[in-house]
Amino acid sequence: KAAGGNTLRVYSHSDGEVPARERLRLETDLRVALASDQITVFFQPKVDVDTGHVTGAEALARWNHPRRGLLTPGAFIEIAEETGLILRLGDRVLELACRQGRAWIDAGQPLPLAVNVSMRQLEWAGYTDRVLEILEATGFPPSMLELELTETVAMANSEQVRLVTERLRRAGIRFAIDDFGTGYSSLGHLQHLPFDTFKIDRSFISGLEVEGSNRLIVETILSMARSLNYEVVAEGVETLEQLEVLRATGCKTAQGYLFGMPMAATMFASWRRAFQPA
Ligand code: C2E
Ligand code: CA
Ligand code: CA
Ligand code: CA
Repeated sequence: KAAGGNTLRVYSHSDGEVPARERLRLETDLRVALASDQITVFFQPKVDVDTGHVTGAEALARWNHPRRGLLTPGAFIEIAEETGLILRLGDRVLELACRQGRAWIDAGQPLPLAVNVSMRQLEWAGYTDRVLEILEATGFPPSMLELELTETVAMANSEQVRLVTERLRRAGIRFAIDDFGTGYSSLGHLQHLPFDTFKIDRSFISGLEVEGSNRLIVETILSMARSLNYEVVAEGVETLEQLEVLRATGCKTAQGYLFGMPMAATMFASWRRAFQPA
């Protein structure tokens, strides 16, 4: 019945693409979500490898969908980017993160926060002012905010990206290169970039237990970063063995399921109380 007569099928289920009808539905739902309070932010801890102290958190978008439940970005970031809704989504995430960050400061538990930024946001002429407005309105200090750009975006070498990072860095905001190692940039590019932090992509961390090329890559990134005064965060740390290798190679900060999953703010606060060493 559903596929009867002259139903047009322009999509295939096999290649993982979202069917056209489903995309339209998702877009409509996302507009509603942005007009109401369905977008939330989860926080995942960043931990000092040597002391175990929580040194910060990454804010990650979540969507409380009325019918489908809690959605992770894999289900909606792409469509948000394609439709331009990423601008409003990004604003919302930044605002929610900064508001929470301010609340933690007021509670005597300050914590630096990292927020993801997509290409579309950086290309928007009003982006710099919007970020500064949100910081001003929420009272979250610029120096406690780090913006994460994927390596591909960071290396795009566009004038606009350079301008935005320069202006926001002058305001005290830090910048991180996300998913480092997945793009095509050589390590030699590092020294020319106006960034503070490199986040080593999870794919390099996953094989760390086994002696071999991943270990070498991580060691190389670390020694390079050290000599150029960049901070390094290892992403996706899941096992104690991985942590041991990172510690041995001199990596200072790690993030991953081993320490904590992304959590709602209240959950994060309890996790922090329980996990934080004396
Ligand atoms: P990302 O920036 O690389 O964020 C890390 C992702 O890895 C998160 O997925 C996190 O839940 C997951 N992760 C953390 N630790 C581990 C681990 O130990 N093992 C494994 N297997 N995974 C781990 P999430 O929250 O689903 O986000 C996926 C991506 O969506 C993010 O990747 C980021 O690129 C994007 N994203 C999330 N929030 C935003 C946002 O507000 N704006 C934009 N533009 N993109 C966002
Ligand atoms: Ca990130
Ligand atoms: Ca990442
Ligand atoms: Ca990623």
